[in-house]
Amino acid sequence: MIYSPEKLKIEDQRMVPFIHDEEIWDLINNTKPDKDKVNAIIEKSLNKNRLTLEETATLINVTDPELIENIKQGARTLKERVYGERIVLFAPLYVGNKCINNCMYCGYRAQNKDTLRVTLDKDQLISETKALEDDGHKRLILVYGEHPSYSADFIAETVKIVYDVKSKNGEIRRVNINAAPFDIDGFRTIRDAKIGTYQIFQETYHRETYQKVHKGGVKRNYDWRLTALDRAQEAGIDDVGIGALFGLYDWRFEVLGLLRHVNHFEAVYNVGPHTISFPRLKNASNMDIDKNHLVSDEDFVKLVAILRLAVPYTGMILTAREPAHIRNQVLQFGVSQIDGGTNIQIGGYAKKSHNQQNINEEQFQINDTRTLKEIMEDLIENDYIPSFCTACYRVGRTGEHFMEFSVPGFIKRFCTPNALMTLAEYLEDYATEEVKIKGYNLINKKIAELEKENQNTETLKERIELIKQGKRDLYF
Ligand code: SAM
Ligand code: SF4
Repeated sequence: MIYSPEKLKIEDQRMVPFIHDEEIWDLINNTKPDKDKVNAIIEKSLNKNRLTLEETATLINVTDPELIENIKQGARTLKERVYGERIVLFAPLYVGNKCINNCMYCGYRAQNKDTLRVTLDKDQLISETKALEDDGHKRLILVYGEHPSYSADFIAETVKIVYDVKSKNGEIRRVNINAAPFDIDGFRTIRDAKIGTYQIFQETYHRETYQKVHKGGVKRNYDWRLTALDRAQEAGIDDVGIGALFGLYDWRFEVLGLLRHVNHFEAVYNVGPHTISFPRLKNASNMDIDKNHLVSDEDFVKLVAILRLAVPYTGMILTAREPAHIRNQVLQFGVSQIDGGTNIQIGGYAKKSHNQQNINEEQFQINDTRTLKEIMEDLIENDYIPSFCTACYRVGRTGEHFMEFSVPGFIKRFCTPNALMTLAEYLEDYATEEVKIKGYNLINKKIAELEKENQNTETLKERIELIKQGKRDLYF
């Protein structure tokens, strides 16, 4: 049963709304940044501490270009010190776009009669998954509209179908979900399908704006959505992703809303969300939105750096909504995951309709239309390690971003070697000769760097040889 916010059980009452507009505005209006204070806050984050709402508000209020540069440099340093050069790759796979809601920013809203409605059947889902595997993907996020057809059982079934698809050496090793909120039983059903992260964006944390832009359907209920990931937690899904759709309301409010959501998770569950997303509003079919709060490139880059510093332990996801030049800039601030070769036309991967966007067939416009091959090549050339690693999730080490952050040596022992092995798999199975050469040069360079840091790399080197000989799915 999905549409039952009014039937919250007694034990769910503790999932009470935790966003208070006055608190957030008070912080934005009454914190004044000065140089010493701002630099001390950056230092606190570099010492691996999450920032308070007040400290984050202080960074938000910085306008001095020199101090803004310090914030960006702080985010770069944090990334270099803590996370290194790995970038995890994934692809979104839209399963169906029927929707009962009227989110005025979304091409898939119920009222929009110009949108072609499609739900992949089993064969089509298999074809899409195969096409993604044949590109080299190992991690997907399945995306659904909100509709009675997309029940928890339906979602669980689609997850199982995707996990079962094997094409040559390809397979999907981690399926994440972006779908509507469910009740606790629904989330349990989906948990049992062995999903990775369950992602739900609040869109805007500002209640009044929320009511303005969600004109119909169950999604109009702000509290049902705000407490969704609490119900997921109660159902045993402890790997959750939060996000705000930047451009609906004042970006400063949304950054603090996200941080308040993080605090709530830490306070109630003793663990923060696994990932934070910060999609920026893009054009969509018949979009009907007040444009007063669109976020400029300059503010967007600044807010990503602030989020990095505010919650230094959380994974950050940046999607192909943003053009390549913005992605490249923001990658330096410790983004941990990006999508590659994205095609959000439903059924588009198998049709290879890449680069032929049709706004009436897609939820919104994407702006990075590079293929996965092109993105892999760009990452390798820029000394990033593209990674398809799914090891933590598969050996039951949940909250890997938190472990990367907090367990000394974790990245050197696990993440970097695993990233290099998944890169070697990609090079063997999907890369051109030219990229293969560049990729192995990068692998050798990174192994040498590990050795310089006294890391034993013998097993890693043996495993890379095994991958060259055809062995797959090796990890630490
Ligand atoms: N129907 C589910 C829901 O609403 O939660 C799935 C969400 S949708 C398929 C994924 C996300 O895309 C939404 O949560 C929203 O933040 C984002 N989105 C919707 N319209 C957008 C637009 N015009 N530009 C950028 N992102 C958009
Ligand atoms: Fe439906 Fe999600 Fe689009 Fe809203 S954002 S109209 S719920 S698909």
